[in-house]
Amino acid sequence: MNRRKEFAELISITRKFLEQERDRGVKGLVQHSEERKAGSGTLDDLARSIKDCQKCKLGRTRTNLVFGAGNPKARLMFVGEGPGFDEDRLGIPFVGRAGQLLTKIIESIELTREEVYISNIVKCHPMKDPAHPEMRGNDRPPTQDEVAQCLPILFKQIGIIKPKIICTLGSPATKALLNLSEGIGKLRGKFYDFYPPYGESGESIKVIPTYHPAYLLRDPMRKREVWEDMKKTKKAMTSISSH
Ligand code: URA
Repeated sequence: MNRRKEFAELISITRKFLEQERDRGVKGLVQHSEERKAGSGTLDDLARSIKDCQKCKLGRTRTNLVFGAGNPKARLMFVGEGPGFDEDRLGIPFVGRAGQLLTKIIESIELTREEVYISNIVKCHPMKDPAHPEMRGNDRPPTQDEVAQCLPILFKQIGIIKPKIICTLGSPATKALLNLSEGIGKLRGKFYDFYPPYGESGESIKVIPTYHPAYLLRDPMRKREVWEDMKKTKKAMTSISSH
């Protein structure tokens, strides 16, 4: 690549990164560079630092904070919406019915849960009626404020793990990462660039949105599309590792 092209590419990457930061509400780059360093510890350090988090009201009603699970050096990461009843009880993401389906989805591309990393945009169980935490079916999507308070934790996880590809599961996770307004039906199955605000590499990560496994339980006909998305993911992983 000649110098001129290289420079143009650098400007374009910088612009995309700055636009993404602006859309996320980052106010200044000085604050940003300090925060960036905060993402350079280990996942265990990060988990310890947030274990008593009370930044939003979900902290008051959780049984367990569900940090994430899997390989801290995973090349592929899955990001869901938030823990449900089973996850809150066990402190592990995607262990209920939707989780069992996610396990099958991961295995469909010859990987295991232990080889990938699984987390959520919020780490505590959002409930419709927090007065009844013992009730099943009491789940709701996280509010904008809950997502905004919790998202820095996910960004720091991404900065530490440095996956090559992130598969977002469903609309809330996709919106939280990519800040795009189209529905999941439009966004799924394509790759988008995500510039992680933490971690030192500065490289973009490929994000492929797909349907959430809980949606597949309600509408099994959509499984075929997820299968297509997983085949693309596997292909992209193979091509990244051969470069
Ligand atoms: N649904 C999610 O989005 N995340 C979980 O961890 C479980 C169910």
